[in-house]
Amino acid sequence: MIDLMIRGGRLVTPEGVFLGNVAVDGEQIVAVGQFDFPARRTIDASGSLVLPGLVDAHVHMQCNAWGAVSPNDFYRGTVAGALGGVTTIVDFATQVRGRPMMEAVEALRAQADGNTVIDYSMHLSITDASPATLQEIKRIVAYGIPTFKMFTTYRAHNIMVEDDEILAICQRVHECGGLPGAHAENASISERNYERFEAAGLRAPSYHALAKPDYVEAEALSRMLLLARAAGSRLYVYHLTTAWGVELVRHARQAGQPVLAETCPHYLTLTRALLDRPDGVNWICSPPLRDNTDLEALWAALLDGTVAVISTDEAGFNAADKRRAAAAGPLDQIPNGLPGIEMRLPVIFTQGVESGRLSLERFVALNCANPARICGLYPRKGTIAPGSDADLIVVDPKKRVRLSAQTQHMPTDWCAYEGMDVTGYPAYTIARGQVIVDQYRFCGERGRGAFVPGRLDERLLEQV
Ligand SMILES: [Zn+2]
Repeated sequence: MIDLMIRGGRLVTPEGVFLGNVAVDGEQIVAVGQFDFPARRTIDASGSLVLPGLVDAHVHMQCNAWGAVSPNDFYRGTVAGALGGVTTIVDFATQVRGRPMMEAVEALRAQADGNTVIDYSMHLSITDASPATLQEIKRIVAYGIPTFKMFTTYRAHNIMVEDDEILAICQRVHECGGLPGAHAENASISERNYERFEAAGLRAPSYHALAKPDYVEAEALSRMLLLARAAGSRLYVYHLTTAWGVELVRHARQAGQPVLAETCPHYLTLTRALLDRPDGVNWICSPPLRDNTDLEALWAALLDGTVAVISTDEAGFNAADKRRAAAAGPLDQIPNGLPGIEMRLPVIFTQGVESGRLSLERFVALNCANPARICGLYPRKGTIAPGSDADLIVVDPKKRVRLSAQTQHMPTDWCAYEGMDVTGYPAYTIARGQVIVDQYRFCGERGRGAFVPGRLDERLLEQV
């Protein structure tokens, strides 16, 4: 007798869609295909899709910045994620410049352990290139954190790294078998724009987007591509947002440079026109929302492989905090970020799969397999195969939901997709063998999620 049988669903992996059963025993998948085992519990998935649980490779739970803390903490945020079909998150340990990175790792673990309801891993936001920090990179990779993010902006937050530091970090991370990455926005151009707008009394939310036009991303991205190339390292591009950026990544990949890029649901479905609404301040995030031409370029990039990952950049600050900061001014002090951990599946399923833009296989590659590969979690996470963790979701492709702040499970006081009608929602979420969402209801326990170390595999990165 095994623990769980999921019967008769259409199983989706990046390799194909086929009708079959999944057998789960303990925390793992033990068999996939045409067979039947006696089981303690059976889920009838006929008429449904069975997907690997989503991996969210870019989240900031209880994000503490700009004088506010986002209400999606490691418990409530991961409950909301589980209800949206997410079974693994990857958060960021941010080094305090001049301090050991391991302190940041321990601080994040202290927040997450005992609270998350799904498994989690980490990136390291590295903020200096001192000899001690460069030395420590090896230890961080060995600990299970192979991905290092560098900010080319946020000078005032004391997390921006200079070009010489970027080069040294790329070299050392590569040497240690890790993957360097970037939040690419030019700092000085946007700083000057903010100052100029502030001096002219221009504080409307739309000026946030005007302070960071597409070339702010393109400049920093092309510099990062150049520095990574000089260092001989790979490069991961966090949240690509512009047609110009897509062109740069595509060109680099065509020239043989090993660069991997992600984008987010809001950059694929929302535009900066939202900033003009009376509550436009809510949609302030960085990089800012863009225009339809950028959005179309990103969809095309998902199809041709230029963009390999969809993640949420979850940083769901409350509207109340954003309003307060906007009233106090200036514009660059407003908490940046959108709530989204719960919304990726329905939004991308509807606008991608339902609309015919993405195949089911590509949906799974972008949301499950590739993020797991890039974070060194594959094939434990991100696929349906014997030996993998039993992280599975059963999606009703016909389920219709209207997204709204009233019905979402994220504790944020607003919804970035308010009023959007979606088709396709996970009815069951199984995380390491446990049914934690049962018929759209959360039933898992706080703290059942665990830290999962990432181990990068060069061959798997080649498959992205
Ligand atoms: Zn982020």
